[in-house]
Amino acid sequence: MLIIKDISNLKLYLSAFEKKDYSIGYVPTMGALHKGHGELINKSKEDNQKTIVSIFVNEKQFNNPDDFASYPRNKGLDYNLCDQFNVDVIFEPSSKEIYEEKEPMLTNKHFKNILCDKSRPGHFDGVITVLNKLFSLVKTHKVYFGEKDYQQLKIVQSFIQESFPNLTLLSVPTVRQEEGIAISSRNENLSKKQLQEFIEFHKKTSQFISKLDSNMEISEANNLSKKFIDSQNLERFDYFEIRNSNNLTTDGVVSQARLFYAIFKGKIRLIDNLII
Ligand code: AMP
Repeated sequence: MLIIKDISNLKLYLSAFEKKDYSIGYVPTMGALHKGHGELINKSKEDNQKTIVSIFVNEKQFNNPDDFASYPRNKGLDYNLCDQFNVDVIFEPSSKEIYEEKEPMLTNKHFKNILCDKSRPGHFDGVITVLNKLFSLVKTHKVYFGEKDYQQLKIVQSFIQESFPNLTLLSVPTVRQEEGIAISSRNENLSKKQLQEFIEFHKKTSQFISKLDSNMEISEANNLSKKFIDSQNLERFDYFEIRNSNNLTTDGVVSQARLFYAIFKGKIRLIDNLII
């Protein structure tokens, strides 16, 4: 496994395989890798001859400096996980190198003013700004994203169609802990009590959606979700709502939808989406 830190070495590596006409898969990450990232790597390994994982904690997508500072970082473990999953290359650029050329900030135009875009203004501008840079450096044919960050997946899909038409996005279903919650690097920051409360909340949420009639209008189901979430007495949440999986509107019926939530345990923001 190669660990490449500068852009010039990455270009050298890629040019060698371009000549051989190898297919290369790319998995962009912010590190603190776990089995969820592992699934993306596995999928890329199935589809391609080489797999590149990038590790870059992108300051521009954090609208809260504390959140950026406390984002889990564990280099040694990340290298181990990549090694276990037989990654070919880790690309680990510095912030200086990624943003050296005063990368212009892009503005996201898709799926705006809802869900995470509403509660984290500017977050997706930061996401597409860094991906614009990374996709132009890590020139591959296929890129892998998780359904865990479903709105991000939809936004990146639209962005790729517009700006990188030769790149194909492949998505991977959310990998979950035994207890049902999505595996996430943020779970590591939860206290034992917070983790237990979160698991309990997730269980109740799963029970709530399992009782919804699949033919019910999404708008009507959202009246019930509002009642449900109000009854949970959460300390804080950003959203808890059902939306059409295809266009993220509230049009259509429940069988076409997912339930999206962003809740807080202390300062830790936890997001998930569940197929109904
Ligand atoms: P991150 O490092 O959090 O930016 O995530 C990198 C990629 O891994 C994104 O495409 C995420 O959606 C995906 N991902 C994170 N957690 C999971 C999970 N539990 N299951 C599947 N994909 C995930």
